[in-house]
Amino acid sequence: MRVLIVEDEVSLAQALVRLLQEEHFQVDMAVDGEEGLLLATTVPYDAIVLDWMLPSMSGIQIVQQIRERSITTPILMLTAKDSVENRVEGLNAGADDYLVKPFATEELIARVRALSRRPSDFVPDQSLTFDDLYFDLITRTVKLHDQENILSPKEAQILEMLIRHAGQVLTRQQMMDAVWGYEADVLEGVLDTYVHHLRKRLAALQGPIIHTIRGVGYTLRGSHS
Ligand code: CA
Repeated sequence: MRVLIVEDEVSLAQALVRLLQEEHFQVDMAVDGEEGLLLATTVPYDAIVLDWMLPSMSGIQIVQQIRERSITTPILMLTAKDSVENRVEGLNAGADDYLVKPFATEELIARVRALSRRPSDFVPDQSLTFDDLYFDLITRTVKLHDQENILSPKEAQILEMLIRHAGQVLTRQQMMDAVWGYEADVLEGVLDTYVHHLRKRLAALQGPIIHTIRGVGYTLRGSHS
């Protein structure tokens, strides 16, 4: 079971990560709204714990955007607001459950467990396209014109993330969190090495180009742009 925590109070977020890990969940963490949305729309989670008040995007906006993309991952919202209107607003936006701060940790675990058991109809895409490139996510094959190339699992995850967020700049940290998990102790050089290999494979097909944004991360652009 893989769970995403989106909470800007870092000490609370870290406490929740540890707590859920003790319950044998695999846990990723985001401390701002945009990063939370990026992970929620990239990684197939079994449940998302989402704070209401966040910098850069509110929890409600995140729920709406997740649901607009037809992602049905169960969402538990955390909030200090305990009025009926707020509760209704959260549920109307597409949240599945609601927990008012402060809450007992046992309560949170019980709710997350219940939500993550729910059969999720997060049906991952079977394929993606970008410009003329066809990417079969099941076989990890990239095809362009008559040529094809099979990617390694990590290369495939990196390319999937780049295509889904094409034109946006992804930071190295966002990419490492999504590909290796928040807890993993991966050096940036490892990501760079995978990107280097992926770039060569795409170049062999004369496909899209992964641009380095110095000091930040990477972005995918078409070979003609
Ligand atoms: Ca908050």
